[in-house]
Amino acid sequence: MIDNKKKYDNLDISCKQLDTVCLPESSLPRIIVIGGGFAGLALVEKLKNKEVQVVLFDKNNFHQFQPLLYQVATSALEPDSIVFPFRKQFNGYKNVVFRLAEVEEIQPSSNIVKTNKGSAYYDYLVLATGTTTNFFGMDTVEENGLGMKNIRDSLNIRHMMLQNLEQAAITCDGEERDALTNFVIVGGGPAGVEMAGALAEFCKYILPKDYPEYPSSIMKIYLIEAGEELLSTMSNKASSKTLRYLEDLNVKVLLNESVTNYDGNKVSTKSGKTFLAKNLIWTAGVKGQFPEGIDEKHIVRGNRIKTDPYLKVEGHENIFAIGDIAAVLTENTPKGHPQVAQTAIQQGKYLGDTLVKIMNNKPLKPFTYNDKGSLATVGKRRAVADLGKLKFGGYFAWLLWSVVHLMSISGFRNRLMVGFNWAVSYFTYEKSNRLIIRNFKQNNNK
Ligand SMILES: Cc1cc2nc3c(=O)[nH]c(=O)nc-3n(C[C@H](O)[C@H](O)[C@H](O)COP(=O)(O)OP(=O)(O)OC[C@H]3O[C@@H](n4cnc5c(N)ncnc54)[C@H](O)[C@@H]3O)c2cc1C
Repeated sequence: MIDNKKKYDNLDISCKQLDTVCLPESSLPRIIVIGGGFAGLALVEKLKNKEVQVVLFDKNNFHQFQPLLYQVATSALEPDSIVFPFRKQFNGYKNVVFRLAEVEEIQPSSNIVKTNKGSAYYDYLVLATGTTTNFFGMDTVEENGLGMKNIRDSLNIRHMMLQNLEQAAITCDGEERDALTNFVIVGGGPAGVEMAGALAEFCKYILPKDYPEYPSSIMKIYLIEAGEELLSTMSNKASSKTLRYLEDLNVKVLLNESVTNYDGNKVSTKSGKTFLAKNLIWTAGVKGQFPEGIDEKHIVRGNRIKTDPYLKVEGHENIFAIGDIAAVLTENTPKGHPQVAQTAIQQGKYLGDTLVKIMNNKPLKPFTYNDKGSLATVGKRRAVADLGKLKFGGYFAWLLWSVVHLMSISGFRNRLMVGFNWAVSYFTYEKSNRLIIRNFKQNNNK
């Protein structure tokens, strides 16, 4: 356990004087967790009612279920189905405190985090800040396209899409109408594939009902992937099945192709192709995001923080990183673990146990990742699954995908709402309300 007495003596001030964010008094060791995504939330759950004070800082007052962001973007679900307020989650957790604040800086020499609302002292610090969209330095794409990393991004995509479809019904200019109804999705990973599938179903089932004035063939969907296959982290079987499913839904898939420029109206690619499109959704990459104060030598590829096998940030005795942000580089995992929800959840749980062991001077075991397999869906009734040696696709994979996702959503009410929406949509192909409730302007709304 960290010798608080010694530390405070050195600093010559008390712990409470170091806090300018108001926090409950406690003699228990304090663990500050930055970020309540899958990793941070799993950690907090593990530490509930333990002999520690847990302080969670998040810049949002809710946890978001990122795997279903694309369903909010395409009006299949309402936003409150996939976000869950931290304060509700922590009802009855006596040792857990939530503070809505963005952590801007870490000061490891004095064990302090500085937030946009004040600072707070920690005995142990856990970074679980996840990732943000990586546009790889392409300014025009970042300025004019939309990423899909959080609930605001999803709502921006939804409003962009609905407004552009309305504008397409108004305009008499054929070229402009094409641009307004064409969609380009960049990135053939699970997010891009699932988005393309959902958009294609919107085009097939909703467009003819809502916009009888034009044929569904008016909406063209392009999926651009720089690699030679879709879902490159899954099996070849999953990749080829996914390609077939998307082509059946009339998605135009371009492999070995990359976007080089986007002015908000025209997409240009490396091989010299151009498409008219006022809708560009970027799912082609992420990069780690975290506050100032981590030494550059601990930052590795993808802007992730290098940790030892116990998830401790190298060079620090009491700072840890978990989830997408953590790069656990070992001989067996030279590139770190996959940036998926399962890794984040397993690391959060592991670290909860490990911190208790550290405080009780118990021996530690290194983190090991248990890969439970991968699933991705392409519209309704079709999905692909790689579960160890078992690789399959189709209806059963889709059922499995639905159950796994439904059970993973936080909160009984949210699960009920998502389940209900999916059941209605299964039988009627109807989606949730397609309301334009704010004026979305590219750039201004980001
Ligand atoms: C569109 C999409 C689809 C996906 N689909 C799947 C899927 O099907 N299956 C799968 O396994 N994975 C999927 N993923 C990946 C998965 O969502 C991530 O691996 C997972 O969310 C990582 O969890 P995390 O806790 O590390 O980070 P996050 O879930 O990103 O959480 C980070 C948290 O930190 C907070 N935060 C960040 N910076 C600060 C700061 N400075 N101060 C305070 N708070 C801060 C954020 O508000 C957020 O709450 C998907 C991701 C996306 C974007």
